[in-house]
Amino acid sequence: MEIFDLSGKVAMATGANGGIGLAIAAALGRAGAEVMIVGRNRTKCETAVKRLQGAGLRAAYFVADLTGEAACKDAVAATVSSFGRLDILVNCAGITFRKQPEDLTLDEWNSVLATNLTAGFLCSQAALLAMREQGGGKIVNVGSMHTLFAASHTAAYAASKGGLLQLTKSLAVAWAKHNIQVNAVLPGYIDTELLQSALQQVPGLEQRVLGRTPAARWGRPEDLDGAVIFLASQASNFITGASIVIDGGYSIYG
Ligand code: NDP
Repeated sequence: MEIFDLSGKVAMATGANGGIGLAIAAALGRAGAEVMIVGRNRTKCETAVKRLQGAGLRAAYFVADLTGEAACKDAVAATVSSFGRLDILVNCAGITFRKQPEDLTLDEWNSVLATNLTAGFLCSQAALLAMREQGGGKIVNVGSMHTLFAASHTAAYAASKGGLLQLTKSLAVAWAKHNIQVNAVLPGYIDTELLQSALQQVPGLEQRVLGRTPAARWGRPEDLDGAVIFLASQASNFITGASIVIDGGYSIYG
């Protein structure tokens, strides 16, 4: 459908060499966009791009640790120099340490905040320059159920994902004048490596989550496709500062 068509658009997705980010990159590609994926692990990046290209999509990768300001600027610059523009930024890179707050070291706290929140800010700042010149753009931030809820082992993660939603709203207000819409998706529990490690580390998680998920299953990375394409396309041009929950009903089940 034309309103969701991303032909001629260029997207950069962080944390996109696997899991949710790679599914998002593939969805944007299938909708017509050229996609730059960013991650730390070169082998994962190469494999991911081969997969995208094998599916007939136009994709490239940039290896970067986005906890540094220069790396965020370089990733955006590489996207613009590879594809000539930047229309869509998806901030998806994320990590966590599952520990009680009293056991979390300052280094662990700082690295979660730097990856999940500050990198999103810095990539958005860098993207602004390209988007402003082009007359607009779309930023989609990947939050979490921990944007809304808390668990005793998620102090840094929940702080970062809660902060990301407030960053989403602030950027939406600030950059509306540049025709840049900034929104968030808040996935429920999606079956990726991150979830598998959580299931190993957090006793009772499976029963607790599936027990309050009306859809009665884990999410799949592809479950985000529709919302992300919507927020990346002209279909959402009057939507900004919003968040879309994609959780099989987890967050509304009392
Ligand atoms: P993965 O662990 O599979 O993906 C994390 C991604 O982030 C990887 O591509 C990783 O690349 C990248 N990354 C981590 N640190 C950095 C860094 N410093 N610089 C650049 N890239 C980095 O997890 P998911 O796919 O599950 O998670 C993706 C996002 O979705 C995260 O933000 C997560 O918080 C969020 N999310 C996940 C949910 C789930 O249930 N799975 C639920 C809700 C939200 P590399 O491997 O190369 O380091």
